[in-house]
Amino acid sequence: MSDAADTITNKGYHAHIYYDPAQTRPIAERLCAVIAEKFEVKLGGLRDGPVGPHPVANAQVIFTPDQFQPVVEWLMFHREGLDVLIHPLSNDSVDDHSIYALWLGSPVPLKLETLRRNYRAELLPNAER
Ligand code: ZN
Repeated sequence: MSDAADTITNKGYHAHIYYDPAQTRPIAERLCAVIAEKFEVKLGGLRDGPVGPHPVANAQVIFTPDQFQPVVEWLMFHREGLDVLIHPLSNDSVDDHSIYALWLGSPVPLKLETLRRNYRAELLPNAER
Protein backbone atom coordinates (compact mmCIF):
# COMPACT_ATOMS: atom_id res chain seq x y z
CA MET A 1 0.00 0.00 0.00
CA SER A 2 1.50 3.33 -0.94
CA ASP A 3 0.52 6.07 1.41
CA ALA A 4 0.54 9.77 0.57
CA ALA A 5 1.39 10.44 4.23
CA ASP A 6 4.71 8.62 3.75
CA THR A 7 6.00 11.41 1.55
CA ILE A 8 4.53 14.35 3.48
CA THR A 9 6.40 16.07 6.26
CA ASN A 10 4.00 17.49 8.81
CA LYS A 11 5.45 20.11 11.14
CA GLY A 12 2.42 20.37 13.42
CA TYR A 13 -1.14 21.63 13.52
CA HIS A 14 -3.31 24.66 13.94
CA ALA A 15 -6.68 24.57 15.64
CA HIS A 16 -8.85 27.52 14.59
CA ILE A 17 -11.73 28.01 17.02
CA TYR A 18 -14.42 30.07 15.29
CA TYR A 19 -16.55 32.42 17.33
CA ASP A 20 -18.95 35.32 17.08
CA PRO A 21 -17.32 38.49 18.53
CA ALA A 22 -20.70 39.64 19.88
CA GLN A 23 -21.81 36.33 21.35
CA THR A 24 -19.25 33.61 21.90
CA ARG A 25 -15.91 35.45 22.27
CA PRO A 26 -15.73 34.71 26.04
CA ILE A 27 -16.07 30.98 25.31
CA ALA A 28 -13.21 31.10 22.78
CA GLU A 29 -11.10 33.08 25.23
CA ARG A 30 -11.75 30.58 28.00
CA LEU A 31 -10.97 27.59 25.76
CA CYS A 32 -7.62 29.17 24.81
CA ALA A 33 -6.76 29.90 28.44
CA VAL A 34 -7.52 26.37 29.57
CA ILE A 35 -5.79 24.70 26.64
CA ALA A 36 -2.63 26.77 27.21
CA GLU A 37 -2.69 25.79 30.86
CA LYS A 38 -3.13 22.07 30.16
CA PHE A 39 -0.79 21.70 27.17
CA GLU A 40 2.40 23.42 26.00
CA VAL A 41 0.78 24.93 22.95
CA LYS A 42 1.46 28.29 21.34
CA LEU A 43 -1.49 30.68 21.14
CA GLY A 44 -1.90 32.75 17.99
CA GLY A 45 -4.45 35.04 19.60
CA LEU A 46 -8.05 35.97 18.91
CA ARG A 47 -8.91 37.75 15.67
CA ASP A 48 -12.28 39.48 15.81
CA GLY A 49 -12.65 39.68 12.05
CA PRO A 50 -11.85 37.77 8.88
CA VAL A 51 -8.16 36.95 8.45
CA GLY A 52 -6.59 35.10 5.52
CA PRO A 53 -8.74 32.13 4.53
CA HIS A 54 -10.89 32.45 7.67
CA PRO A 55 -14.10 34.34 6.83
CA VAL A 56 -15.10 34.95 10.46
CA ALA A 57 -13.47 35.61 13.84
CA ASN A 58 -11.25 32.84 15.17
CA ALA A 59 -8.77 31.95 17.88
CA GLN A 60 -5.64 30.10 16.79
CA VAL A 61 -3.84 27.35 18.71
CA ILE A 62 -0.53 26.01 17.37
CA PHE A 63 0.75 22.58 18.43
CA THR A 64 3.18 19.82 17.52
CA PRO A 65 2.43 16.44 15.89
CA ASP A 66 2.86 14.57 19.19
CA GLN A 67 0.26 16.82 20.85
CA PHE A 68 -2.42 15.94 18.30
CA GLN A 69 -4.11 13.25 20.36
CA PRO A 70 -4.45 15.10 23.68
CA VAL A 71 -5.20 18.54 22.20
CA VAL A 72 -7.74 17.40 19.61
CA GLU A 73 -9.38 15.04 22.07
CA TRP A 74 -9.69 17.86 24.59
CA LEU A 75 -11.23 20.18 21.98
CA MET A 76 -13.58 17.41 20.86
CA PHE A 77 -15.12 17.27 24.33
CA HIS A 78 -14.82 20.92 25.38
CA ARG A 79 -15.53 23.09 22.32
CA GLU A 80 -18.89 24.18 23.83
CA GLY A 81 -20.66 24.29 20.49
CA LEU A 82 -18.00 26.32 18.69
CA ASP A 83 -16.85 25.08 15.28
CA VAL A 84 -13.17 24.13 15.14
CA LEU A 85 -10.90 23.59 12.15
CA ILE A 86 -7.85 21.40 12.72
CA HIS A 87 -5.37 21.57 9.86
CA PRO A 88 -1.87 20.13 9.50
CA LEU A 89 1.23 22.15 8.59
CA SER A 90 2.67 20.34 5.60
CA ASN A 91 4.47 22.17 2.83
CA ASP A 92 1.20 23.00 1.10
CA SER A 93 -1.14 25.26 3.05
CA VAL A 94 -3.86 25.11 0.39
CA ASP A 95 -4.11 21.32 0.74
CA ASP A 96 -3.86 21.65 4.54
CA HIS A 97 -6.97 23.85 4.60
CA SER A 98 -8.94 21.72 2.13
CA ILE A 99 -8.26 18.03 1.48
CA TYR A 100 -6.35 17.46 4.76
CA ALA A 101 -8.63 19.54 6.99
CA LEU A 102 -10.48 18.07 9.96
CA TRP A 103 -13.56 19.71 11.48
CA LEU A 104 -15.17 19.54 14.90
CA GLY A 105 -18.71 20.85 14.47
CA SER A 106 -19.73 22.35 11.14
CA PRO A 107 -17.24 23.29 8.43
CA VAL A 108 -16.92 27.01 7.74
CA PRO A 109 -16.43 27.86 4.03
CA LEU A 110 -12.81 29.01 3.72
CA LYS A 111 -11.39 31.52 1.24
CA LEU A 112 -8.68 29.24 -0.12
CA GLU A 113 -7.72 31.70 -2.87
CA THR A 114 -6.16 33.97 -0.20
CA LEU A 115 -3.58 31.34 0.78
CA ARG A 116 0.01 31.14 -0.27
CA ARG A 117 1.35 27.60 -0.38
CA ASN A 118 4.07 28.07 2.27
CA TYR A 119 3.69 29.14 5.91
CA ARG A 120 5.51 32.03 7.52
CA ALA A 121 7.93 30.73 10.18
CA GLU A 122 6.03 32.30 13.08
CA LEU A 123 3.01 30.14 12.30
CA LEU A 124 4.95 26.93 12.93
CA PRO A 125 5.13 25.30 16.39
CA ASN A 126 8.91 25.37 16.67
CA ALA A 127 9.44 29.00 15.66
CA GLU A 128 11.42 31.25 18.00
CA ARG A 129 9.14 32.99 20.46
ZN1 ZN B 1 -3.98 27.90 10.41
